[in-house]
Amino acid sequence: MYKVEWSDKMEKLIGPYHDFVCEILKFVNEEPKFTIKQDSDIAVLVKKMQAMKKDECCNYNFLDVATGTNLKKYICDLKYEGIDLLEKYNDFINNYRNFLSQEWRDNTIYSKELTNAFEYFYTNLIHGKIFNDTIGESNAIREFREELTLESTCPYCDFHEMEFDIASVDHFIPKSRYPLLAIYPKNLVVACSACNDRIKQEKLYLPIMHPYFDNLDEYFYFSYKNNVIKYELVDHISIKDREKVKNFFELFNLEARYNKHCKKKLKKLKEEIQRNVIKQIKNSKDITISEVELKIREEINDQYMNILKEKKIDPLTKLRLDYLKQMNEGDLSDLSMYIANENRTSSIIITNLFRV
Ligand SMILES: [Zn+2]
Repeated sequence: MYKVEWSDKMEKLIGPYHDFVCEILKFVNEEPKFTIKQDSDIAVLVKKMQAMKKDECCNYNFLDVATGTNLKKYICDLKYEGIDLLEKYNDFINNYRNFLSQEWRDNTIYSKELTNAFEYFYTNLIHGKIFNDTIGESNAIREFREELTLESTCPYCDFHEMEFDIASVDHFIPKSRYPLLAIYPKNLVVACSACNDRIKQEKLYLPIMHPYFDNLDEYFYFSYKNNVIKYELVDHISIKDREKVKNFFELFNLEARYNKHCKKKLKKLKEEIQRNVIKQIKNSKDITISEVELKIREEINDQYMNILKEKKIDPLTKLRLDYLKQMNEGDLSDLSMYIANENRTSSIIITNLFRV
């Protein structure tokens, strides 16, 4: 819901994965591709890789990983692919944002072998010791998760506080459908497991906003009327952006989740404002309705400033800030009257107590 800033630290942790993919795909292209599958192909490949490793001019980092893991089998498989994978990969990452906004499409049907190879890169290889020692920072994915879960709410829902143990790494564009993006850094988003594992899963709705590129929160505001929370689009946004916001909300089922779980938070916020104002005007005799209203507005403003400080850290700040704005812009006469009455009643009770 908020933009997540892509930092130098994140680049340092995850960037080497992109280089790794480029290296492999370049290597796959380097020699003639295999055409007919033969048992001896993998042996040919290993021989070639061993020779390259001995060559001092060779600067392929992945060779150490390939000779020490099962990676060679998958590299061998990639050499049967009929398309230029490096070109395809570069095309995809250069057009990643255009893909999200549907200004560029990819209609390639990826083979099972290619999908398996990239699945292996992500699920086995990047968690393995040889890979981490050779290619990137040790435990880079773990540190990446740590970095993004630290004092943060989920970038998709802004509802769950992220905890290292339950946060998961989401492939924003699902790797099952677009396997080349399995370890593309900007496609990896750390999110709460409710959003990623339970709700989004392998779904993709396009066009859509993306937490590394878009300030989604600037395109909409929450309204709370007749006991229903809704998101409303701000004025003057393009049809495409409207669709991107709508798809984001639908992909994470946000309106339904907010209505089911978050109304209580708004009720509590309103009660807190009431309580604080009542406390402030306690025993003030002859306070006018407009003076009460002024106190309420001051209290709303104080709450607003406090919540704003915790943006992206505390849950539901967007919802609460929009609710306070809505309160402040709305008619406060009922609330002022209610508080003035409460105050009068308590003064009468106190006066009566003294009389007793
Ligand atoms: Zn979430």
